[in-house]
Amino acid sequence: IPFADMGLNPALLQALTSEGYHTPTPIQSQAIPDVMKGKDLLGIAQTGTGKTAAFALPILHRLAADRKAPVPRTTRALILSPTRELASQIADSFKVYGAHLGFRVAVIFGGVKYGGQERALQQGLDILVATPGRLLDHVQQKTLDLSTTEIFVLDEADQMLDLGFVKPIRQVVSRMTARRQNLFFSATMPTEIGKLAGELLKDPVKVQV
Ligand code: AMP
Repeated sequence: IPFADMGLNPALLQALTSEGYHTPTPIQSQAIPDVMKGKDLLGIAQTGTGKTAAFALPILHRLAADRKAPVPRTTRALILSPTRELASQIADSFKVYGAHLGFRVAVIFGGVKYGGQERALQQGLDILVATPGRLLDHVQQKTLDLSTTEIFVLDEADQMLDLGFVKPIRQVVSRMTARRQNLFFSATMPTEIGKLAGELLKDPVKVQV
């Protein structure tokens, strides 16, 4: 079904039209309706399948349907990504699709100074994209409080394993409320990642492309 028939917020449809996107990719058709309803998702998909929009569009839709004033040192949605390049691309996608929604979006990764990141967090965010190590630093320094985060995305979970991020991910997750929506993406499902998915996800919709 076309984007226009999915019931997405009109501001998102306007941004998709500006981008020249009319037809959802298979992962988008399969994931967006359920994620819009608040369900957990297990997506087996590679980069290039359109998976970023498959989570970004329904997340933006849900946040827009229930607007809240920014609370300092919190974020409503958290997306964990294995690399700074990917984190930056995901944040850019949220900015493009959310261009008419006015949300606060930030990206946080290691290897750079803390000051600018602390200032962004201090304002309160709607959407935060981060790499696991630096994100955990902020949580431990109490410059970020994840206890009210409503939506959690783990992207490229198998790459996270290869980079040694499973332990910091578990530590991050332990700071979040159990009452959250979880979206989990991986290109492959090694045992350790299947186990992590089992711990995180509640009755997930499964999509494989
Ligand atoms: P991703 O798999 O999220 O990295 O996306 C792969 C590429 O496909 C990105 O350059 C997107 O901008 C593009 N893309 C995503 N969804 C669509 C769509 N429905 N129609 C056309 N291009 C898309």
